[in-house]
Amino acid sequence: MKIVRTPDALKSALRDEKRQGKEQVGFVPTMGALHIGHKRLIQEARRANEIVVVSIFVNPTQFLEGEDLEKYPRREEADRKVCELSGVDYLFYPDATDIYGDDEVSVKAPNVRGYILEGTSRPGHFDGVLTVVMKLLNIVRPTRAYFGKKDAQQLMLITEMVKNFFMDVEVVPVATVREEDGLALSSRNSYLSARERREALKLSLALKRATELVMQNILDTDKIRVEMLSVLEPLEVEYAAIVDREFRPLREVEANNTIILVEAVVGKTRLLDNVWI
Ligand code: AMP
Repeated sequence: MKIVRTPDALKSALRDEKRQGKEQVGFVPTMGALHIGHKRLIQEARRANEIVVVSIFVNPTQFLEGEDLEKYPRREEADRKVCELSGVDYLFYPDATDIYGDDEVSVKAPNVRGYILEGTSRPGHFDGVLTVVMKLLNIVRPTRAYFGKKDAQQLMLITEMVKNFFMDVEVVPVATVREEDGLALSSRNSYLSARERREALKLSLALKRATELVMQNILDTDKIRVEMLSVLEPLEVEYAAIVDREFRPLREVEANNTIILVEAVVGKTRLLDNVWI
C-alpha cells in the first residue's frame, strides 16, 4: 500500500496504473477513525475493482462553527494498519491546504433537500460535503465510489450531484454495519460514556419499532413517528422522519421506496441512524 499526500502525486500514480491496464478504480472517501463500517465499504471496493483508493480527510468545510472539528478522532497509525490489512492500494492523506484555497468556487446543496433533516440542524453542512466529494472524485476519477446508507441524506445528495453534473462515476450504496446490540457503528461513538452508549440504543430500537409497525401493515407515517418518539424518550430528538428515496415526505410508507430516519443527541453527541423499507 502506498500512502500519498498530495492530489498531484495521487493523480500521477493513478495515471501510471491506467497505463499499465488497471482501469477499474474503486474509491472510499472517509474522515478516518476507521471502524468495521468503513471496512465493509473497502471490502466492497476490493471485490469489484482492480485498484482501491481510500481517502482520510477531516473536511473542515462540513463542520459548522462550534462543532467537533478539533476534537474529531484522528488515528493515523491505526487507520493505516486497517487499510493495509484490507488490501487498499492507495491511502490518500491530504492536508487541508492541498484541498482548499481562498475565495473558491464551491458546490451548493439543493435548497430544499440539502436543508431539511440533517441540513436543518447543520445548515451548510451538505455544501461542505458535496464540495469535498466533488474535489475528491475529480482527483481520483474512480469507476465506482462507495458510500454508507448510514448517512442516507448524504448518499442521496451525492447521487443527485453525480447525476446533476453528468459525472462519470457509479455511486455504490453500502448497508449499515451495526454492533451486535443494534447500535450503528460511527466514529463518533467513541465520544459516548458507558451510560450514554446504553441510551444510544434507543435510536436503533425506535427504528426496530417502526419496522415492526410496517410489518403489521401500519403504514400511516404520523402514527409511526409518534411510536418512535415514545421509544426515544427522554433523548433530545432532532428529527424522526419518514421520507421516500428522494427525501420527499411520505404520508404512508411505500414498499421499496421508504427511508425511516432518526437523529438524536446523546450527552453532547449527535447520532443518526435509519432503516430502508
Ligand atoms: P465518515 O468517515 O464518517 O465520513 O464515513 C465514511 C463513509 O463510511 C461514509 O460513506 C459513511 O456513510 C460510511 N459509514 C459510516 N458508518 C458506517 C456504518 N456503520 N456502516 C456502513 N457504512 C458506514
